Amino acid sequence: MSHCGPEVAGRLVQIEGSSRPYTVAIVGPPNSGKSTLFNRLTGLRQKVANYPGVTVEHRTGRMQLIRGREVDVVDLPGVYSLEPRSEDEQVTRDVLMGTMPGTRRPDAVLLILDATNLGRHLMLAAPILSLGLPTLVVLNMADDLQKRGGEIDTAAIAQRLGTTVVLASAAKGQGLEPVYEFLGGDVAVPSPLELPVLNQVPACRAWAQRMSSDSYRAPAPPLWSRRLDAVFLHPLWGPLVFMAVVVAVFQTIFAGAQPLMDGVEALIAESGKWLGANLPDSMFKDLLIEGVWGGVGSVLVFLPQILLLFLFIGILEDSGYLARAALIADRTMARVGLQGKSFIPLLSAYACAVPAIMATRTIENKRDRIATILIAPFMTCSARLPVYTLIIAAFIPLGGRVWALIGLYLLGFAAAVVTARILRSSVLKGDRAPFVMELPPYRWPTLRSIGLRLLDRGMVFVRRAGTVILAVAIGLWILAHVPFVAGKAPEIRDSLAGTIGRAVEPLIAPLGFNWKIGIGLITSLAAREVIVGTLGTIYGIENAGEDTTGLQGALQRDLTLGGAVALLIFFAFAMQCMSTVAVVKRETGGWKWPAIQFAYMTGLAYVCAWIANRAVTALF
Ligand code: GDP
Repeated sequence: MSHCGPEVAGRLVQIEGSSRPYTVAIVGPPNSGKSTLFNRLTGLRQKVANYPGVTVEHRTGRMQLIRGREVDVVDLPGVYSLEPRSEDEQVTRDVLMGTMPGTRRPDAVLLILDATNLGRHLMLAAPILSLGLPTLVVLNMADDLQKRGGEIDTAAIAQRLGTTVVLASAAKGQGLEPVYEFLGGDVAVPSPLELPVLNQVPACRAWAQRMSSDSYRAPAPPLWSRRLDAVFLHPLWGPLVFMAVVVAVFQTIFAGAQPLMDGVEALIAESGKWLGANLPDSMFKDLLIEGVWGGVGSVLVFLPQILLLFLFIGILEDSGYLARAALIADRTMARVGLQGKSFIPLLSAYACAVPAIMATRTIENKRDRIATILIAPFMTCSARLPVYTLIIAAFIPLGGRVWALIGLYLLGFAAAVVTARILRSSVLKGDRAPFVMELPPYRWPTLRSIGLRLLDRGMVFVRRAGTVILAVAIGLWILAHVPFVAGKAPEIRDSLAGTIGRAVEPLIAPLGFNWKIGIGLITSLAAREVIVGTLGTIYGIENAGEDTTGLQGALQRDLTLGGAVALLIFFAFAMQCMSTVAVVKRETGGWKWPAIQFAYMTGLAYVCAWIANRAVTALF
């Protein structure tokens, strides 16, 4: 392990021992080995805390050093640049600039970069070095670099950067002596950088290229990784493999989740029965059983399926496969005139449009960004899954179910593509930016990372069930019981809820929907999956006390095949999600775009559902 001393670059300063602890921040891109180094330096003497006002966590630990000075080490959130685009970047930047309230500016920085990926990681050195803090650059993963035949001339890079650079392996504990020396006070203050302000990503990229051009040879990807790429990125095999993966995933989501869903359903049904048998008769009991258990319960049944979906997304993403799929898809994106940068937001819209729309902030081109925001809600978000599964399972024979589901995903994608084309050739005309994306190495997904994801998404789903859906279920149950004449609730048809449903019935009858679906369409304006809870509540009240075949059976009695297909198509296209409307307004800075988007998507949903109902009714 070579390390190039401060006498080569920068001024050597000795920081005198003082009473206050000396603070050193560990900064680096995600996965560069910050935590590994942090753990090695601090052992168990660490604690986790949140910065005030933000959700970003940081860890601090204290080391006792030979020279009798205490050193606090802070592990900052991983970043690629100091442009404050995300909360993580904002926090790291604020701490380093000394503008984070309640946090002292660090005295020195340990910049840790992945030596096997220096082309990308060295970019971060530009804004960090221009902070003017004493900085030690640790090029980590030396073991991996060596194993894979990469080379670095550390001295040459140190010379150019004007600060100390060491090649080390945090995981193996090799080459870390200079780190301890640095923490002990042998720090080099970087000489001023030759370039002035380096906070723009493209400028940093060009700078990093120059810094390392003749002193770095990137390691070759391992042979097996190149072999995998040869298949996954192949013009013919690539898309075919992708299709096969998609079919397998959906097959598992449908078939694999069934036993678990049956389990949850039985649990909810049994607990409902138990409550029914053990609570004294009252309005409250009816509300609890029909409203809460019927409404919230019928949505919660879908939890296993949602988790399974995110399990697959997590595995595909963490393993590095999804980035390959993105590269293949870029060819399609090019044809519709969108840039590759739109792909990641659009991909995440399969989970939920809200974070996807926020992720479009990385798209610098304004037109591309608006176009991406406008089409993102067409991607099949996980909130549609319960609606799709319920209707498909009730109306489509077993063999066709997976295909119906895939068809709906494709339909949403097609609507997005067509819309993008229209937008880019009319109101949002402009040039297409080239696609720059780095393929991450293939990795085994870790249990921890996947587990955290599932926990996170599971919590989101359950929280929605416990808030929006619960509130709608209770509100609806009450509306379904007024007007309360002579102490007796009306038939649901004649209740306030029923009256509202029947008022919109003429409008939706051409689509094959009755007034009960009408109520569901209104409540699901809050969030799509609310319709499942709403129908659960309505049929729960209607069939109170009777032995029914559940929600599926009730739907089969109440909808024609044409109406069912129309309902699926309506949900594929309509923008039934208040959170999405709100986030589009925030991100586009006004009501214009969300209003256009809402009108367009709802109009498209109506027309296509009408056509579907007519076509299916005529054919079957
Ligand atoms: P962070 O996101 O920057 O905190 O990165 P981590 O410390 O979590 O490290 C990311 C991954 O790189 C983990 O799987 C580590 O085990 C691995 N890693 C860290 N340092 C080294 C190293 O020096 N050599 C090798 N081969 N792997 C390392």
